[in-house]
Amino acid sequence: MGAKDGRKGDPEGFGPIEDQFQAIFDDFFRRPVAGSGRDRRIPMLVSLEEAASGASKVIKATFEAHCTDCKGSGVLLGGPPVFACSVCGGKRHVLQERTLTVKVPAGIDDGQVLRLAGQGDEAPLGGGQRGDLMIEVIVAPHPRLRRAGVDLFVEVRIDAETARRGGRVNVPVLDGERRIVVPAGTVSGAEMRLAGFGAVRLGAEAVPIPAEVTAAPYRSRSVGDHRGDQIVTFVVGESSTDGQDDTSEGRRAARNQGLWRTGVLAVALVAAVIGAFVLGR
Ligand SMILES: [Zn+2]
Repeated sequence: MGAKDGRKGDPEGFGPIEDQFQAIFDDFFRRPVAGSGRDRRIPMLVSLEEAASGASKVIKATFEAHCTDCKGSGVLLGGPPVFACSVCGGKRHVLQERTLTVKVPAGIDDGQVLRLAGQGDEAPLGGGQRGDLMIEVIVAPHPRLRRAGVDLFVEVRIDAETARRGGRVNVPVLDGERRIVVPAGTVSGAEMRLAGFGAVRLGAEAVPIPAEVTAAPYRSRSVGDHRGDQIVTFVVGESSTDGQDDTSEGRRAARNQGLWRTGVLAVALVAAVIGAFVLGR
């Protein structure tokens, strides 16, 4: 008989039977529409990527199902006397776990609710209409990306040299990373807009984010209709954590400049030697 057993030591000596009838009573008055199941509300955790770009998720949830033993009456059939059905404990339903595949619409956001009509609890008497299933979407925080509406925001650290001379840096995006050009003379707080790298506009076609960042800022006519943007904010510091390497524009420029100076010096030396040789004759 279930969870109500041993709930408390009742000093009057009223035991499980009374609890069962109470359960039947409770159920009766909580059920406004006979013949249809109740709506069920469950939370569903999704990642930022799944919410922004859409996904298909398999979830498990527990529902009320028609008790076939008492046919939804809550009592043992064939009475009187009236005893609560031992299978459902007088609750008129049993609990049943179901596995569902839920389509997460691209662009859904934290706190929004998906309503799946006819996917809720079963009618207590069986045969009737199932209630609806309400799935509350909970978007897990992303380690780097923050979302506001359809736009995404990210802070990217660059070192002082890259900021001064320009360079390249990896930026986290929805499906991984993209390498972007840091303009020379970038200061802390400077922003770069990556058009079409944001979340899908709810209801729009879920086109993928662009394969690469071309010029910045740029805006593709088609992508902008489907997705928001990603805004990169540069933070200039002494050390960077965002995957700079020796191919950074600044370092290459510095190296080239060094080579050029060495070359000029070599030519000058050769000219001086030749000059001295000519003069000495
Ligand atoms: Zn039953």
